Amino acid sequence: MPNFICTTCGTQHAEGEQPPAQCAICVDDRQYVKPTGQQWTTHDMLRRTNRNSIRFEEPDLIGIGVEPSFAIGQRALFVRTPKGNVLWDCVPLLDPALVESVRALGGISAIAISHPHYYASMVEWSRAFGDVPIYLHLADRQWVMRPDDSITFWDGQTNSLGEGLTLIRCGGHFEGGTVLHWQAGVGGKGALLTGDIIQVVADRKHVSFMFSYPNYVPLSAAKVERIVQAVEPFEYVRVYGAFWDMVIEHGAKAAVRRSAERYLRALAGDTL
Ligand SMILES: [Zn+2]
Ligand SMILES: [Zn+2]
Repeated sequence: MPNFICTTCGTQHAEGEQPPAQCAICVDDRQYVKPTGQQWTTHDMLRRTNRNSIRFEEPDLIGIGVEPSFAIGQRALFVRTPKGNVLWDCVPLLDPALVESVRALGGISAIAISHPHYYASMVEWSRAFGDVPIYLHLADRQWVMRPDDSITFWDGQTNSLGEGLTLIRCGGHFEGGTVLHWQAGVGGKGALLTGDIIQVVADRKHVSFMFSYPNYVPLSAAKVERIVQAVEPFEYVRVYGAFWDMVIEHGAKAAVRRSAERYLRALAGDTL
């Protein structure tokens, strides 16, 4: 039986003869159902029309996307370490050529995902690389649409994956919203891989924090402060956001602080 994939958010669902009546991720206030109605595809169908794209970001970091762009259009990040490689976030498609490329780079030993919009086809990815664990924050358990034994829920505020990789729970966009600190990034100066939890914006000098990006629903001051406090103890100079090219190359820690201050001033009604 197929595992249907929602064409709006790219989430793969548990197997069934028929597609689900609706996609819970898209019915949620943070997403949307297109005016033309709910539509579905499958991983097999997607393989015929799209392929994975791959791009070098910096030493030991490779971006993986889907082209033509599909659903939300995020790119995942493949982080290499001496003791195993981690896939950060996920995309709906995994094509056979990419499996070969990733195996040639040493495979994947774990998957970690920032929030439910990027759960995508995570179980396909886990299985292709030997049922590797998928680390998700427990607070977002209700949003798992394809349960699987490979999913490992973690709780609390931080979770070390070893090799200088630390999951940091920020909340905000989702209760379990998580970013990944990569200590070895940028030649040891540190990088933060943030998905939608700390969103790099168009000028690539600022970030933003939203409950819903497509529906323009902001977060409260308390939630923004909590996000910034969660990442404050970590050293980093670069932030990799959720999409191709959405990267703050240098001075990212100051940019996150400055962006939060601007956001809080706006919420308080001050002129910027
Ligand atoms: Zn959906
Ligand atoms: Zn999101």
